[in-house]
Amino acid sequence: EAKSNGRATYCMFQEGMGDAVRQRRLLEEDLHDAISEQQFELYYQPRLDLASGSITSYEALIRWNHPERGIISPAEFIPVAESSGQIIPIGKWVLHTALNDAREHLPDARISVNVSPVQFRDNDFADEVRRSIEDSGVPAKRLELEITENLLIEDDARALSILTSLKQTGVKIALDDFGVGYSSLGYLSRFPFDTIKIDRSFIKDRGYNTNTHAIIDTVVRLGKALNMTIVAEGVEDMANLLFLKASGCDELQGYFIGKPKPIATTVRRVAPDIALALAGHTPGSDGN
Ligand code: C2E
Ligand code: MG
Ligand code: MG
Ligand code: MG
Repeated sequence: EAKSNGRATYCMFQEGMGDAVRQRRLLEEDLHDAISEQQFELYYQPRLDLASGSITSYEALIRWNHPERGIISPAEFIPVAESSGQIIPIGKWVLHTALNDAREHLPDARISVNVSPVQFRDNDFADEVRRSIEDSGVPAKRLELEITENLLIEDDARALSILTSLKQTGVKIALDDFGVGYSSLGYLSRFPFDTIKIDRSFIKDRGYNTNTHAIIDTVVRLGKALNMTIVAEGVEDMANLLFLKASGCDELQGYFIGKPKPIATTVRRVAPDIALALAGHTPGSDGN
């Protein structure tokens, strides 16, 4: 096929380039057609609300079904799309698709969408979000935008004004991956977050590092004092779940609750063992 020939030729003449650079170029080229060829898909991962014991929201996570390479993780292609600017149309597609899926397939649930700092830097971003919401007919309060600390560092005043104006339309704002960036506690009081998502590295470490217990407790208390919802990411087993519930987290997300899946197969109800644990039955104590 002409396109792959072109690519091979292109590579031959770029011998000086490192492998990593070459890989990026190839991905960047392939990204050009990915939207029009419908190679992107959104997966949805459930979030368990501990107070009600039910799944009340989903995080939309993009997947790229590459025609030759199969599924490529966002961790690999999002950085490429960010540096090439392709994240702008991709981000629009994500927002549009997530809102339509929310309307068609996830009634009553909230939908969380990840936003790259590059999208946020685009002057049209807030209007684009408002337009997508209007087009979808989904109430703004059902949409949550997940942002990371990097975005706040770049242009503090601008970030604050955009987030404030989005919040006025009813959109919720979550601080994603809390604790791993250049975290500053000042951000928590200065920015109008509705939700803090504790990064999964803290949950993973829990068994091996008692300091992380203290950190989780502190974040939970701080978040409560600031009226924010605390979500723990990366909940992988019953021990994680019981610990985080006892710590006072509001919501849990992780493979143990449900892996990210296409809309048709994403988990809608909590598994029976989880429901039992939430009702106060600890595993193995059911008297059998
Ligand atoms: P994130 O927003 O922090 O999303 C959570 C990541 O953790 C997801 O990886 C999810 O699959 C993974 N995860 C969830 N539960 C568990 C668990 O129990 N154990 C482990 N080991 N991992 C778990 P994924 O889907 O590969 O996405 C990686 C990152 O790519 C996301 O991190 C987000 O920063 C970015 N991303 C994903 N979709 C989008 C998108 O539509 N737009 C933008 N801008 N970024 C996206
Ligand atoms: Mg996220
Ligand atoms: Mg995260
Ligand atoms: Mg992340």
